[in-house]
Amino acid sequence: MNGGGCARVQRIAVIGAGAAGLCAARHLACSKKFKPTVFEGTDRVGGTWVYTDRTEKDENGYPVHSSMYNDLITNLPKQVMAFPEFPFPDSLPSFLHHTNVLGYLENYSHHFDLLKYIKFHNYVEEIKVIPNTENSDNFPRWEVKTFDWKQNQHESHVFDGIMICNGHYSVPSFPSIEGMSEFEGEILHSHHFRTSKQYADKTVVLFGGHASGIDIALQLCPVAKEVVLSHKGNLLSPFPDNLRQAPVISKITGNGVIFKDGTSSNCDAIMFCTGYKYTFPFLKDPIIKSVEKNRVSPLYKHLIHIHYPNLSFIGICHTVCPFPQFRCQVLYAMGVLDGSVILPSTEEMLLEEENDYQKRVKQGLPFRGSHILANDQWAYNDELADLSGHERIPDSVRLLYNLVQERRAYNLQTYKQDEFAMASNGHYYRSGV
Ligand code: FAD
Repeated sequence: MNGGGCARVQRIAVIGAGAAGLCAARHLACSKKFKPTVFEGTDRVGGTWVYTDRTEKDENGYPVHSSMYNDLITNLPKQVMAFPEFPFPDSLPSFLHHTNVLGYLENYSHHFDLLKYIKFHNYVEEIKVIPNTENSDNFPRWEVKTFDWKQNQHESHVFDGIMICNGHYSVPSFPSIEGMSEFEGEILHSHHFRTSKQYADKTVVLFGGHASGIDIALQLCPVAKEVVLSHKGNLLSPFPDNLRQAPVISKITGNGVIFKDGTSSNCDAIMFCTGYKYTFPFLKDPIIKSVEKNRVSPLYKHLIHIHYPNLSFIGICHTVCPFPQFRCQVLYAMGVLDGSVILPSTEEMLLEEENDYQKRVKQGLPFRGSHILANDQWAYNDELADLSGHERIPDSVRLLYNLVQERRAYNLQTYKQDEFAMASNGHYYRSGV
């Protein structure tokens, strides 16, 4: 199957105007081979970075998309967060308040004149493949059904390709733990956390020791009586005196939790920092075979739908530098659309996907493990860049990312105070030390 050699301008629907959707719009529009239309359910750009005090439903009764909390400072420095061709302003520190990231994405939209491609307050309700009756060698077309909540109007549109950029930090994943319904205090997910103020003088148990669990635990310490971080490992970083680590929760009681080692903690609140589910409510089976166990399948390189290669999913990978990777993914997906990237056969792609999955299963496959890249992200990004004939992400980004991971492991409390500057060899160094 190929969609290449298409002489006319291809109409591409982009679902979502967060960082991934904006990146897609910018590159599609710039290539002249494509005409993007971005459907955004809310009335502004930025996705995750649009903070709201609200936690359940937005002003229009839709589920709140963003999981941003009031005092969030990024866990990556601006030098590795940026789209390579669009740096953050020099005046900003390396680790940013979330409002600076939203400002950056708004500037990106204006700089590349993207607003004219975005249909705000348009929720995509359904995406359906239109069977191709003309030429079985070409990609099928797509019907996109939308609801404009401002105009109270349903519409249907036809596209030559789709880039799904709907974000994956919105639908909380809760583990099932015995006794959960018995607890008399507050149970929440990190998706619903906004500010530490309401936990003044309280004991809070956070379940989950990944980025959000650690960051929120540290935010609570200055006000809370005690913060207990319950997780599988043992973090070696120094912590405030009122933060202690505990094994995973095995049972919840009326007034607290019992950990796996039999110790317990009475608490006022239990916060689940247990990650999110991939959801594509607008895609009906059998387009996506499964998102069970958080595996989005069948995807080639976590990106291209194996049976419908003109349907791509930007931003599925986890434990990566998101913005620079979005660029690599968008450019590769565009190459598939215009035929400059030749895909292997369907069988070969399915085999590669399965081999990748089985390798992960052998390694123990943690939650969301199907799409975690971590150290493999650099080889993955380089491969996409090489195959689509675009510039790789500069090596300085990888080196700085690794330096920050080391500094973070060494001291989770202080690593965000670091400042970085570029040396004459193009690499970053820790400035001000
Ligand atoms: P999103 O930003 O979620 O955007 C998706 C967009 O799609 C939204 O605007 C949404 O309204 C829209 N949408 C969804 N469904 C529909 C539909 N059916 N119809 C129309 N529109 C729809 N990354 C970093 O690089 N550094 C950090 O420090 C960092 N910190 C983070 C902290 C938190 C708490 C979270 C949750 C994430 C953090 N991230 C961080 C990751 C962040 O999610 C990514 O950087 C990136 O912003 C994700 O962009 P996205 O476009 O994929 O998704």
